[in-house]
Amino acid sequence: MIIKNYINGSFLEPTLGNYIDNYNPSIGEIYGQIPNSTQEDVAQAYQAAKATFPSWSNTTLEERSAILSKIAQLITKKLEVLAEAETKDNGKPLSLAKTIDIPRASANFQFFANAITQFSSEAHETVGVNAMNFTLRHPIGVVGCISPWNLPLYLFTWKIAPAIAAGNCVVAKPSEVTPMTAYLLGEICNEAGLPKGVLNIVHGLGNTTGQAIVEHPNIKAISFTGGTKTGAHIARTAAPMFKKLSLELGGKNPNIIFADCDYELMLETTVKSSFANQGQICLCGSRIFIEKTIYEQFKKDFIQKVSQLKVGNPFDADTNIGALVSKSHLEKVKSYIDITEEEGGTILFGGKKVTVEGSEEGYYLEPTIIEVQNNSCKLNQEEIFGPVVTIMPFETEEEAIALANDVSYGLSATLWTNNLNRTMKMTKQIHAGIIWVNTWLLRDLRTPFGGVKASGVGREGGFEALRFFTEPKNVCIKY
Ligand code: NAD
Repeated sequence: MIIKNYINGSFLEPTLGNYIDNYNPSIGEIYGQIPNSTQEDVAQAYQAAKATFPSWSNTTLEERSAILSKIAQLITKKLEVLAEAETKDNGKPLSLAKTIDIPRASANFQFFANAITQFSSEAHETVGVNAMNFTLRHPIGVVGCISPWNLPLYLFTWKIAPAIAAGNCVVAKPSEVTPMTAYLLGEICNEAGLPKGVLNIVHGLGNTTGQAIVEHPNIKAISFTGGTKTGAHIARTAAPMFKKLSLELGGKNPNIIFADCDYELMLETTVKSSFANQGQICLCGSRIFIEKTIYEQFKKDFIQKVSQLKVGNPFDADTNIGALVSKSHLEKVKSYIDITEEEGGTILFGGKKVTVEGSEEGYYLEPTIIEVQNNSCKLNQEEIFGPVVTIMPFETEEEAIALANDVSYGLSATLWTNNLNRTMKMTKQIHAGIIWVNTWLLRDLRTPFGGVKASGVGREGGFEALRFFTEPKNVCIKY
């Protein structure tokens, strides 16, 4: 299958006619090609967006909201097709694509269809001098949205929905590793009656197509989700051009378990927070710290539960762990497992590549549990982004807080305890943008989403996203 760019409502070949291969990771075979777009394609997408901006930014909120709702409904209607496309492109279990990825992509559009009708700005009366201030919130103009491969349609729409709800026009690029559902979104937008030019999707590599979006002088805001190194590069490019930036980057999240927790719920959830989506979720709790009094028990029970997970072809109904997204990513994850001994760790479970019958060339890896001696080893400091977790005991709250914070990242943390005082103390002291207590990945789309330290700058979600995609202007009237 050869996919095309979606520009001004039409599906176009890249101007230079260059394509790159697209792999199905579950069988390790090329199954399609995608445009390797250049600056010219990005310029064309920008022109379409620019031409549409005056009319789109002047549509009524009701009109915009209705179109976003229609897109949400069509995503739900096409759930099966989209889920299958996501699984083929990414290697994630079809059951996960059907229950999490695609429903959430629809929810993103429906949420911002509603949120934009409730978004408001402020007024400030300057008492004593007869002056009144009010804040206008203008859409920015043409904005850029760039997303990664781990939750392809889910994260792509998480940016596009608020951007267009706020009245902007968009030049967007999905990951070159997982472009298929973004391509299908173009068809859905046409069917939903989204005016041509509001959303333009260019496919291609990060350092060519992505770079061209970030460098474009008139694309005034960039919303990016991806790796920390890429985020730093984007920040260096965009800063001298004074672009608005939202950067959602990597994580190395602590999962802190106290003996007073609800043990069974913790165990079941920890299996998910460790290995869901093959551990390729920025929010996975990859550093597990366990209170010493239950450490041996936890170790035994966790290994036992993880040993029941089935690694297999993602299209099989009983598969828990599908394929990793690419061969190079599999090699990267494996390279961390291979340094376990020199980093002072011990593999307690897994660690090996898996050959799946009938899908022998696919990129499969066992869920892997490594016991580490300290938090300073590479396995605990660097983002592995695969089905690999480390475990380590701690004795006091203070020690747990220090371990949680002793890392360059600060995206999320999970805390398991039924002690209210401890919960309050620790949630205040852990450096992270999101903390889950006695749960994981429970999302309310109104809440601020993002990280601190090397995990990024800015917040997505709810009105935070609508604030990012609008420019505030204060008007002061003296009367
Ligand atoms: P990546 O940084 O390699 O790529 C992300 C996107 O940026 C892709 O579309 C890529 O083509 C593009 N890109 C690459 N170089 C670029 C450049 N110079 N200019 C513009 N765009 C460029 O990340 P990835 O490997 O696709 O995704 C995995 C990473 O994403 C992990 O680090 C993970 O933690 C992170 N992530 C973060 C969140 C979050 O919300 N914080 C969510 C999901 C994934």
